Amino acid sequence: MMSLQKIVWILLLMTIGCQSQKRVQDDYYDDTSHPAQETFDSRVQYLIMHYTAVDEGRSFDLLTRPDWPASAHYLVTEYPKMRGKKPVVYGLVDEKLRAWQAGKSYWAGNTNLNSGSIGIEIVNFGYIDAPDPNDDNAIYALMLKEERISKEGGISQAELMKQKSSWLYAEDRYWFPFTAEQTTAVIALAKGIAQRHDIPPEHILGHMDIAPQRKHDPGPLFPWQELYDAGVGAWYLPEAVEWYVQDRPLDQEVDPQLLLKALKVYGYEIPEPLDERIPKKLLKPQEVKQYEESRRMVIRAFQMHFRPSNFSGIADVESEAIALALVERYKGADVALALLRK
Ligand SMILES: [Zn+2]
Repeated sequence: MMSLQKIVWILLLMTIGCQSQKRVQDDYYDDTSHPAQETFDSRVQYLIMHYTAVDEGRSFDLLTRPDWPASAHYLVTEYPKMRGKKPVVYGLVDEKLRAWQAGKSYWAGNTNLNSGSIGIEIVNFGYIDAPDPNDDNAIYALMLKEERISKEGGISQAELMKQKSSWLYAEDRYWFPFTAEQTTAVIALAKGIAQRHDIPPEHILGHMDIAPQRKHDPGPLFPWQELYDAGVGAWYLPEAVEWYVQDRPLDQEVDPQLLLKALKVYGYEIPEPLDERIPKKLLKPQEVKQYEESRRMVIRAFQMHFRPSNFSGIADVESEAIALALVERYKGADVALALLRK
């Protein structure tokens, strides 16, 4: 005779077996005993970096408000709290769900990347316009006016200006740096996300990369190279860049055609050449100007990511060589050589 204990065990095992094969839904059973084998992947294909452009208080407020038209999966504060030896990041939207962070966007033929991406918002002021770099009062007044700083508990002018030596002045603006503690937290978080969803390094991008005409974040001070050194995201091999430079001066201006072709192959959305859309004699100076400006914005976004020491948007030898080195590394040497031959 079977002992009562044994019967209980068998019944228990049967129940476990049933649970693993049939999930009870409201009006049907979902039998999962025939799973597909290795023919699927995560819906998440991209990881997008942002800065919030406002302080910590405002960042939490805006990103958790029901009436704010944007959201992100994670928020990383300026000086993340530590639990033991691990930095605390804030999960605002479940990774399975779609956050509204990418907006109208493009990468390598994919559009509206919200559906297939995870977004990390990083607390950072971004940039502030400062036609006179020495007018601290005007800078602080503008930050208050634009509500970058929380009304209560926001940083004082004196405290803010203590950090001024670490800001970058370019394009008549000050750009604000990320903290080392914050970068450590972003690296740990991004590593986990990339592993969970098997995101390739060249799909770890900035908002500016996927929407260069309207977005500037995370800007020229985001430490992409540091991330790469820690195993997150894409970077070029210096020896490949040297090869494509071919003894030319790095800052020598070049015709942007080859650079733009390389950026297109790498993933950026390049405005279609105007004269292929409109007969040359019908081109209006205003249209030509707009077209040139839109090309400049793409080159600028790429430079902010991969050559932040100069992000004028003007094509030069070094930018061209870096773009080709990236194509060679992530799309194949044959693809890069084909670009050179064209
Ligand atoms: Zn953004």
